[in-house]
Amino acid sequence: MYSRNSGARARHRSPVLFFLAMAASAAALLPVPASARENTVSKEALSAMEEGLPGSRHAPEKYDLSRIRKRGIGRGLNFYSPAKERALGQELARQLDQDDRVLQDPAVDAYLARIAQRLVQNSDAQPPLTIKVVLDDNVNAVTLPGGFIYLNSGAILAAVNEAQLAAVIAHEIAHVESRHTTRNSSKQGLVDGALTATHFLPGPVAYILQKLRPILLLRIRRNSEREADLLGMEYQYAAGYDVREFPAFLQKVQREDGESTCAGMAFPTCRERIRNIELGAQRFLPTREQSIVNTAEFDGVRTRLVELTSQQ
Ligand SMILES: [Zn+2]
Repeated sequence: MYSRNSGARARHRSPVLFFLAMAASAAALLPVPASARENTVSKEALSAMEEGLPGSRHAPEKYDLSRIRKRGIGRGLNFYSPAKERALGQELARQLDQDDRVLQDPAVDAYLARIAQRLVQNSDAQPPLTIKVVLDDNVNAVTLPGGFIYLNSGAILAAVNEAQLAAVIAHEIAHVESRHTTRNSSKQGLVDGALTATHFLPGPVAYILQKLRPILLLRIRRNSEREADLLGMEYQYAAGYDVREFPAFLQKVQREDGESTCAGMAFPTCRERIRNIELGAQRFLPTREQSIVNTAEFDGVRTRLVELTSQQ
C-alpha cells in the first residue's frame, strides 16, 4: 500500500560490481522455513540489517531523530538527477490529472496541503510537494517521482483521525525524500544489466541468476517500504502526531480490507509492518506526554469527502 513504481527503466551502467555484491548476498535472500518465520520481526529485521531496521546490531544513523535533515536521506545510486526526476514526475502527473476522478475541491486540497507542509517541515528535506485526492474507494496512494502524491479517497475515509491520515501522508513523503522510485528503477537497471552480462557466463550460473532476479527486485521494493514506514513514523512524530495511530490504522485496514490491502504484493507482511513500526517507535522515539490525535478540521473534511463520494 501507498506506493507504486512509475519510473522509466534506467540505462545500464557498470553492472559487474553490483552483480557480484548481489550474488554474494543471495544466501540471505533464500526463503526461511515457515516455523522460523513465526517470529517474523527479528528474522525480517535481521535480514535487512544493512537497512538499519529495528533488530539491527548497528546503531542506524539514518533513524537518529536528532539528525533529521543531516542524515543523507535520498542519497545513493541514482541515474536520475533531481531535475530529471521532477520533470518525469511532472509529465506523469500531467497525464494523471486528466482523469476526472482527480478531485478539485479547494477546501480538501488546502487541508491536505497544510498537513503535508507540516510533515515536510519536520522531515529530511523540503522538496516541492503536490498532494491530490483521487475519488477511489481502494485504500491506496500513488507517489510519483519528484513529489507528486495522489491519495485515494478510500485511504482518507479509512482513517478515523488526523494522526492516521498524517501517517499515510508521512509514509508517502518518506518515499519522495528517499527518492525510492528513481533509486529503485536505477537498481533494477543494474540488476538487468548484470543479467545481460550473464550471457557470457556458463549456463547454470546464468540460469541461477535469472531465477534470482524477481527475488532481488522484490527485496529492493520491500526494503523501500520498511524504510518509508520508519522514516514516515519519525516525520509524523516530529510534526507532533501520535505515532501509535499508524499501526492502529494498519490493523484497522487489515481487519476490514484484508491482508492484501494492508500489505500488498510488494510489501512486507502486515504483521511485520506493524511490529517494525512499534519496535521503531520504542527504539528511536522519546516518549512524550501529549501528541495530536485528531482535529475538528479532519472531521469536517472527512464528512465532506463522504458527501462527494456518495454523489459519484
Ligand atoms: Zn509505500
